[in-house]
Amino acid sequence: MTPRRKTRQVTVGGVKIGGDAPVSIQSMTSTYTYEVDKTVAEIRRMAEAGVDIVRVAVPEKRDTEALPAILDQSPVPIVADVHFHFQRALEAVEAGVHKIRLNPGNIQDRRQVDRVIAACRERGIPIRVGVNEGGIIERRDKNVRAAEQGRLQSDYHGHLMAIMVEKVEEYLRIFDDNHFHDVVLSAKSIDPRICIDAYTAISRRFDYPLHLGVTHAGPKETGCIRSVTALGTLLANGIGDTVRISYASDPVLEVEDAREMLCCLGLRNRVEPELIACPTCGRIEIDLIALVSDVRRVLATIKTPVKVAVMGCVVNGPGEAEGADVAIFAGKGKGIIYVQGEQTRTVREADMLDALYEETKAFAEKVERGEARLGEKKVSIVPPDPLPRADGSVPLTVMKG
Ligand code: SF4
Repeated sequence: MTPRRKTRQVTVGGVKIGGDAPVSIQSMTSTYTYEVDKTVAEIRRMAEAGVDIVRVAVPEKRDTEALPAILDQSPVPIVADVHFHFQRALEAVEAGVHKIRLNPGNIQDRRQVDRVIAACRERGIPIRVGVNEGGIIERRDKNVRAAEQGRLQSDYHGHLMAIMVEKVEEYLRIFDDNHFHDVVLSAKSIDPRICIDAYTAISRRFDYPLHLGVTHAGPKETGCIRSVTALGTLLANGIGDTVRISYASDPVLEVEDAREMLCCLGLRNRVEPELIACPTCGRIEIDLIALVSDVRRVLATIKTPVKVAVMGCVVNGPGEAEGADVAIFAGKGKGIIYVQGEQTRTVREADMLDALYEETKAFAEKVERGEARLGEKKVSIVPPDPLPRADGSVPLTVMKG
């Protein structure tokens, strides 16, 4: 991991982006913003899942009119997403939103952008200058449009990336001319490789905090891979101050996956259990995939970051579960449960789920009472002799630590 690149810092409501602030998680509501109850309910579900900042679209006046009621009830800062209508931005600022997202390229008149900047300055609100792959080709000037499209045809990847960076520079000049530096930048593409190259180039030129995202990433199943490929690479390279994973799905899933990505990169502490599970193989003797799915569901009720391992046999399982606080090795209709490396129970297959949950819950409560520490082992589990005993069972040994 490369150390985080130092950027300027902006404040969105109570959440800081950039500087030494932790990487924050953003998402966007999928509701019509004017439907206040539905919008607030979705914001609350996202907040429960760990979102730090939520963006809402404000295409119509009735959307900005709904903002005061939403802001009153939202547990997290709200960003107004503005396209085409600068008036919506002014109304959102007036309503008290905590940040504006603007693409200066789709605001008709430069003076309109200046007015939005002036309004944000007066209220101390930052602006995200967002460039998206889909909106970077010049729409109004035919000659510029033809030139840009010509460049794209000769080397799509290289020139798209270059045009995105050029647009960011062009838009930033407006903000520089206004001496307004309370800015966050984004340059999203549907292609993770372009995202990586564009954000990397932008991070070398500007010290504004970066909002990372892959645009139109698709459904969760493929969008997750697309997003984490780009965002994970950038974050591992020290680039990125706030993230939005975007799916054509429930936005709560975006928040959950963004949080998991940041935890995996060590950029955020876990607050809930971590589940490790073997992928299963020809040695499996129980329906481990169903068990893992059930374990995942029941662990969601525990709010301590216990590491739990579910392993399908005792051959490689002990070594792979070595870092777990609670582990089960399952096989031949039985499961052996370990807590902090110490064998606590052997249970029938039918009782595995309940027993593992009970042991995990009891351990989590001990941690909360200060009687046990996460990651601390009393004994080390050593991989067993792979040769079976005469009765066919595989010996499992533990070594006092
Ligand atoms: S733990 Fe056992 S069953 Fe699971 S993948 Fe490893 S060897 Fe196969």
